[in-house]
This record gives sequence, structure tokens and C-alpha cells, in this order.
Amino acid sequence: MPVKDILIMHENGMEALVPHVADAVNDVLSSFSGNRHLFQIKNMGNWMSKNAHIYKNGEFLLKPYESVEWYLSRAKEAAEKEGRWYNKKQLNASQLIFDLTSGPSCKRMPGWRILMTHHDLYGQDQRGRPLNFCFGLSCENALSVVSTHRFIDGNNRLLLENFKTLVQHEFGHILGLTVPGRINTYELLGPHCQNDQCVMQQQMSGNLAEMTEARLSRKHAGLSPICPDCINQGKKNLSRLYTPSHHSFNRN
Ligand SMILES: [Zn+2]
Ligand SMILES: [Zn+2]
Repeated sequence: MPVKDILIMHENGMEALVPHVADAVNDVLSSFSGNRHLFQIKNMGNWMSKNAHIYKNGEFLLKPYESVEWYLSRAKEAAEKEGRWYNKKQLNASQLIFDLTSGPSCKRMPGWRILMTHHDLYGQDQRGRPLNFCFGLSCENALSVVSTHRFIDGNNRLLLENFKTLVQHEFGHILGLTVPGRINTYELLGPHCQNDQCVMQQQMSGNLAEMTEARLSRKHAGLSPICPDCINQGKKNLSRLYTPSHHSFNRN
């Protein structure tokens, strides 16, 4: 049976966070203990291929699709066009998702990807209206983009556990835990879980502290960060993923 790689990549300077992201992902995967052996987590670092640069008109430029830096530079360009870079230094998360799921990107790096940035992100709602910010954005069965920006406290320290809650939430979207029409879900910037204490709830408050507290007390009691409905949906999706007639589950 094929093993699915879960590739963790990041913007320069975020190396120390990789084990924590892996830990967060492992906590979610432990809810699917029968399938745990089908996954391996790989640290891609600040990924860049050996063809990452091209020499043009006397300067080195980033070659498309060949480095994390290129993906980020595209998201920055998109943000500049929309007036979100100059003052806010936000990256356009939709552009990141678009680039990471198009071109030669998927073939180059098969597997699920989690890209970390320390820049703030913004995306769009379902009607295409720009949001003030987003913690992260995901594409089912493909990838997540997560930002540490909203988890830096007044002392310039990362609220690590809150950030790990975000990583689990976004990874849950890769797994397709809250598909449209599932029981106990509601629609708020995409379908989310309505079960109390589950990390697949949607938080509009700009603060994941409450969800993190619930997650940690569940963890101390030996419980999963995701609820039984999310676990059931994940099991369904994983069995489909590993049935030869279905190579993927639906993108949204
Ligand atoms: Zn979500
Ligand atoms: Zn749930």
C-alpha cells in the first residue's frame, strides 16, 4: 500500500517549529491508528530545488515553482496589487494555494504539504470578498498554508499551543473532516464542525485560546483533538483514498 508523505515546509528561519508541527499532525493521525502506518512526515525545510535560480539580465531570479521563496514572492506580488502588502505585510493565501496546486508543483512534491509562514495571511470568503486576515487556508487532499503571525504575544513570543491548534484544524481540512452535508457541521467560511471542544470548529474571534484549552485538557485525558464525527468522516475518506478505484477525494 502506498505511503502518503506529509511534507512540512517553511519560510526561512522557522526550522525550530517543524517538530511541533509534526507533533500536532501526529496527534490528529493518532485518531486513525489503523491507518497511521500509511503516513510519513518529512521535513522539507525552507525547500528549494537545485534549479531554484535563473540568471537573467545580469541578476539571479527565482525560477517558478522551484522554491518556497518563489511561492511566497508570488503571494506577496498578489498582495501588492490588492494593496495588502505596503501597510499590512499580508500575503495572499489564495494565490499560495493556487500556485501550490497548479503547474508542476504537485508532481514535483507528491504528498500532502503544510507550508508555514510568519507573514500574516488574507484570503477570500465564498463570494470572493477579501477577508481582513486568515490564520491559514487549506485545500482538501492537498495542502495547508499556516501563519504564526496572529499567535505572537506582546513579548514577541509564539503562543505555541494555539498555533498547534491551528495546524491541527488545517490538517483536518486536508483530511476532509468537515465535508459539506456531514452531520453536526455548519457553514462559516466553508463547512466546520459544531461539536463542542473539537478543533474543527471555526473561530472568528481571532483567538484560538479557548479551543486550545479544550484541546489540551482532552490531550491530558488521552482524548483526540477531533470529535467522533470528525474521526468517522476521516476514516471514510481514508478508506476511499486507499481504495484503488478512487485516487482522491473531492477538492473544495
Ligand atoms: Zn477551517
Ligand atoms: Zn469535529
